[in-house]
Amino acid sequence: MSLFSIVIFLNTGLFSKERNPEMGIVLVSIGEIDRNVMDWLKNDLNKVFGQQVFIEKGMAEPDYAYHKKRNQYLSTAILNALMEQKDYALYEKILGIVDHDLFVPELNFVFGQASSKSAVISLTRLRQTFYHLPGDQNLFHQRILTEAVHELGHTYGLGHCGNPRCVMFFSNSLMDTDRKGSEFYPSCKSKLKKFFTHHP
Ligand SMILES: [Zn+2]
Ligand SMILES: [Zn+2]
Repeated sequence: MSLFSIVIFLNTGLFSKERNPEMGIVLVSIGEIDRNVMDWLKNDLNKVFGQQVFIEKGMAEPDYAYHKKRNQYLSTAILNALMEQKDYALYEKILGIVDHDLFVPELNFVFGQASSKSAVISLTRLRQTFYHLPGDQNLFHQRILTEAVHELGHTYGLGHCGNPRCVMFFSNSLMDTDRKGSEFYPSCKSKLKKFFTHHP
């Protein structure tokens, strides 16, 4: 091998990001999560974002985030715990999935929360049975995808959108979630495209 070819070899190894499996989205179950949910998400998020999606070893139940008075879990505490894990930091984006009701101090509840790299979503309020209605697996699946795409959208720099049919519209209730669905409308889609052009 000539010196020249060694240099080329090093270059492709170090700088070809598209070959680096650690540049995608990682899914992390926090506490007990149905494996089907993780598999749906892996498959569907790959289609939506065109990025590789991985499932990493999950985290334990987030007892540290539990607030007895509210009988809810502080989403910020879970988000911080996700960001502190070195194994997940290798990936470009981290999505935690938890099956406990989440809150932030200013709100009664949140469906999820995001920072610039990590996001967390809760499954609890996405089930029909939470509202004493008959279970609906398809609707549950669709809602999980909508919330996951919304929170990941924030990690890619998108803010809330004024279009009630765009996934980046703020969900005050499940009615908003069900109406908007998991698709980006054109203005958000083009912002997302710009992100991927600048961060290939
Ligand atoms: Zn939001
Ligand atoms: Zn939008």
